[in-house]
Amino acid sequence: AAKDNGRGRFFFYAEDLHAEAKARAALEKDLREALVKGGLELNYQPVIAAAEEKITGFEALLRWNHPEKGRISPEKFVKIAEETGLIEQIGEWALRTACHDLAKWPDDVRCAVNVSPLQFANPKLPAIITSAIAEAGIPAHRLELEITESVFLSDDANTDAMFAALKKVGVRLALDDFGTGYSSLGYLKKAPFDKIKIDQSFVRGATEPGSRNGAIIQSITSLAHALGMDTTAEGVETLDELDLVRVLGCSHIQGYIYDKPLSMADATERLRTGLDAKAQGPKSARAPRQ
Ligand code: C2E
Ligand code: MG
Ligand code: MG
Ligand code: MG
Repeated sequence: AAKDNGRGRFFFYAEDLHAEAKARAALEKDLREALVKGGLELNYQPVIAAAEEKITGFEALLRWNHPEKGRISPEKFVKIAEETGLIEQIGEWALRTACHDLAKWPDDVRCAVNVSPLQFANPKLPAIITSAIAEAGIPAHRLELEITESVFLSDDANTDAMFAALKKVGVRLALDDFGTGYSSLGYLKKAPFDKIKIDQSFVRGATEPGSRNGAIIQSITSLAHALGMDTTAEGVETLDELDLVRVLGCSHIQGYIYDKPLSMADATERLRTGLDAKAQGPKSARAPRQ
């Protein structure tokens, strides 16, 4: 009976996998169509300088509102786009759109765009970026590329060459989701990052008694700052978390405590009005610690 059971389960799984593959193929087709027909959007989440409490820039984040299925999380559709290679075109669209939008904001505002490891492995990336910033008429240093540690898993020589080429173009480079991958110090030694983004999994729970996260955040910020890099704490949601990451030395803050990712129009409005009063909470980070 156990054997029968096992076989039955095998067929059940196979059918399941088949259905899943079909659903993915359908989603890929819809995604391709969305890219062509203007169904993708970028939202912009403010990044705030901790000391001045001022917006220094935004992170561009992809949004897809599927005609039947509604909003699909970027975690899900970016993964499909990476598996199918579609991320090359979607990523280029995101770069060009972000540069175009960035041109409408004041000169001291920056924009960060996420770059997939697949784009990073494409030797044409520096040329695509050069053309995107020229078309928008913005200086390269206003554009920041967010790269994850996974780019270091592929060929060393190519990775080094790509970093050198991007530096030559003049864009800023940020190491995204730091602490979630291999987090080798070797990356920090050889790659010319301007910023480390501390993953939100370290911020989450950092205010709980006995949490080790604070010690980790503090170590990352002192290391980064000694290397001349900025640090952004990702996913700051509460006033307690905001207070803590400032004390621990994060130079920049990003999270729902200030703003969720906003439409282009709302992001522009936010620049005009300044930050929401709700986040201008206790400034204990500036007072001596108890
Ligand atoms: P990411 O680059 O690490 O982006 C930060 C994510 O954290 C975003 O999720 C953002 O909405 C979310 N977030 C920001 N503040 C908070 C907070 O206070 N609390 C919580 N719980 N979350 C917060 P989102 O927009 O769902 O994007 C998820 C991931 O999808 C991104 O992670 C990035 O890896 C990928 N992605 C998004 N847009 C692009 C893109 O244009 N290109 C590529 N290659 N990947 C993208
Ligand atoms: Mg990012
Ligand atoms: Mg991140
Ligand atoms: Mg992430």
